Amino acid sequence: MQKEHLFKVLVIGDLGVGKTSIIQRLVQRVFSQHYRATVGVDFWLKVVERDQRTVVRLQLWDIAGQERCGNMMRVYYRDAVGALLVFDVTRASTFEAVLKWKGDLDSKVMLSNGRSVPTVLLANKADQSLHGLRCQLPRLDAFCRDNGFVGWFETSAKEDTNIDAAIQCLVDNILVNA
Ligand code: GDP
Ligand code: MG
Repeated sequence: MQKEHLFKVLVIGDLGVGKTSIIQRLVQRVFSQHYRATVGVDFWLKVVERDQRTVVRLQLWDIAGQERCGNMMRVYYRDAVGALLVFDVTRASTFEAVLKWKGDLDSKVMLSNGRSVPTVLLANKADQSLHGLRCQLPRLDAFCRDNGFVGWFETSAKEDTNIDAAIQCLVDNILVNA
C-alpha cells in the first residue's frame, strides 16, 4: 500500500533572491533568465516519490511580487507544514532579512503539535558567490542551530545545484511530524 501525503510548503525570502527560479527548477526543470515580478500568490505542485511506499505531493506557495519582509498576511502561512527560506549570496541585505522572515513565519503558523514549521535555509546564487557572502557560509551551521532551521544548502537555480537535496531534506523533516 502506498501512502500519499499532501503538504503545503512556503517559499519565502526577499524579492529577487530566486524563489520563483528555484520552484521552476523543481517543478519544470528549467531556468529562466528573465525577471518576473508576478502579482499575488502562485501555486505549484511537485510530486516526490520518497520511497516505494511514500508519495509526497508538495503544494509550493510562491509569494509573487508581494514580498513584505516580516509582515506577510496570516492567510498565506495558514496550514503550512514546511518552508524554504531563501537568500541571495550576492546581497548581504537579503541575509540580514532572514531572521525577520523566520520570525514572521514562526509567529503566524505552527504545527498542530505546537512545534515550529520545519524550515530549510537556502543560500542561493551559489554560482555567483565568489564575491559574495561565501566566507560566511561555514558559520551557517551554528546559525541554523541557534535559529531553529533544520538545515541549509548552497543552491543555484541557474546550475541546478542542491535544489533536489534541499527539498529532500525538507520532506524528511516534514515526514517526522506527519
Ligand atoms: P524571486 O523574486 O525571489 O522569485 O526571484 P526570481 O526567481 O524571480 O529571480 C530573480 C533574478 O535572479 C532573476 O533574474 C533570476 O534569473 C536570477 N536568479 C535566480 N536564481 C539564480 C541563481 O541561482 N543564479 C543566478 N546567477 N541567478 C539567479
Ligand atoms: Mg518570484
